[in-house]
Order: sequence, then structure tokens, then C-alpha cells
Amino acid sequence: MKNPIQEPKSKFIKVKCTKCKNEQIIFGKPSSIIKCLVCEKILAEPSGGKGKIKARILEVLE
Ligand SMILES: [Zn+2]
Repeated sequence: MKNPIQEPKSKFIKVKCTKCKNEQIIFGKPSSIIKCLVCEKILAEPSGGKGKIKARILEVLE
């Protein structure tokens, strides 16, 4: 049985919102805009398959 979520090259990153200091784990290559859960500032947005991170990156999770 296949796991559709599994993507070996994808990474999750831990970021800190530059506005409200909220720490949040997000997908490093988002397919849609990711907003801070607290203040709704945009943390990441899709950019040519790479993803553009607009928050402060604390840690990259394998
Ligand atoms: Zn925030």
C-alpha cells in the first residue's frame, strides 16, 4: 500500500513568525500560501516549485 504523503525530497522547516514570534512547523515547498496561525502573516508562499520562505528559519527537519 502506497503512502501518498511520502516524498523523500521534501522537508519540513521550523520557522518563527517575524511579527508575533510564534514558532510553527511548515512545509518547505508549499503548494499554497502558508499563514501564521496566530497573526495570519504570510510565512511561506509557492514560488516556481521551490517555495519562498518569508519567516525566520530556525531549523530544517529531515
Ligand atoms: Zn505571527
